[in-house]
Amino acid sequence: MINGKMTELGKKRSVIREIFEYAKVRKAEIGDSKVFDFSIGNPSVPAPAAVTEAMKRLISETDPVQLHGYTSAQGDAGVRKVIADNVKSRFDFDADPNLIYMTCGAAASLTVTINAIVNSGDEIVVLAPYFPEYRVFAEKAGAVVVESPCREGDFQIDFEALKKAVTSKTKAVIVNSPNNPTGAVFSEDTIKELALLLEKRQQEYGTDIYIIADEPYRELVYGADVPYIPKYYKNTVVCYSYSKSFSLPGERIGYILVSPECNNCGELYAAVCGAGRALGFVCAPSLLQYTVRDCVNVKPDLETYKTNRDVFYGALTSYGYTVVPPDGAFYLFVKSPEPDANAFCERAKKYELLLVPGDDFGCKGYVRICYCVSREQIENSLPAFKALIEEYK
Ligand code: PLP
Repeated sequence: MINGKMTELGKKRSVIREIFEYAKVRKAEIGDSKVFDFSIGNPSVPAPAAVTEAMKRLISETDPVQLHGYTSAQGDAGVRKVIADNVKSRFDFDADPNLIYMTCGAAASLTVTINAIVNSGDEIVVLAPYFPEYRVFAEKAGAVVVESPCREGDFQIDFEALKKAVTSKTKAVIVNSPNNPTGAVFSEDTIKELALLLEKRQQEYGTDIYIIADEPYRELVYGADVPYIPKYYKNTVVCYSYSKSFSLPGERIGYILVSPECNNCGELYAAVCGAGRALGFVCAPSLLQYTVRDCVNVKPDLETYKTNRDVFYGALTSYGYTVVPPDGAFYLFVKSPEPDANAFCERAKKYELLLVPGDDFGCKGYVRICYCVSREQIENSLPAFKALIEEYK
């Protein structure tokens, strides 16, 4: 018999993908410009020119056998050294290239890391709202997911809730800042308080509790500082991705960085390599590894997203929507004007507005709106958003 749980996962798309597929059907029916699809975090800004140029140069100037060949399972040593040096210079943190593992993006980074650290029955705490795939990755690894809701309003960590969620069975807390879906950036005070709490609990229980810092949006911030978590907490593993910052989500490239300050970091890194091997995530795409090496200092074009955010946030709040002030990523998290966000999303569909209910992110009563879309789409959708909220007045 085949694995029923996997069949179920394969048949049931995530709500985001469900709406994304619906958008395609609807666009074919009534035309692209009439459908306002705010469902999926596919960057609307093209990859930086320097990244495209580097890829072209690599293809035209490198021996193809070498360029497209396997690298070491954990990634090319030269690429890992460049990343470690970059982390050192940007964050003044002593990263070790021998504790870096190249991956196919944050999804692979997360699933490899989770498999490396958990044993069956261990608990992984997720700060709600959270990226829904955390649950899929954690449960497949045999972990139990424990949700700890963030503070409503600013969506910083609610420490009273977290104190209850962290137990002697907790193996890791996943921290995603800038956050999908809220756009919140956890402040330095929040990270310090988190570090203090986890240090105390490690001592009390005599266990290791890891922070898994999921950082695909690190570069997408509009003024806020994003604390580098390994500087505040020793047992940290960073799951990084270039999907959003380089606008290359389909190319699949990122890395895992095990902090040299983790307890038994060598053993932990061996477990990362083992999990990568067991899951088949060895040797991330070589062309992309070398592209990262050659573009490690390239920054994304933030202006487009920042203007999208400002236009959208300004308009929605002026119509009467309550929107979480977004410091980073490219999402608005909006309070549903009726308690059931699913009902609100259905009503929004009448106006061809495709929004994602917060329920799957572990936060009822909110919807997520991606603003990594064209300015034109945002501007053309505004009358529909206005008419929609008028229905509730
Ligand atoms: N983590 C979060 C919070 C995300 O939003 C995403 C993608 O949207 C991922 C991880 C996966 O990113 P990647 O495309 O690098 O696998």
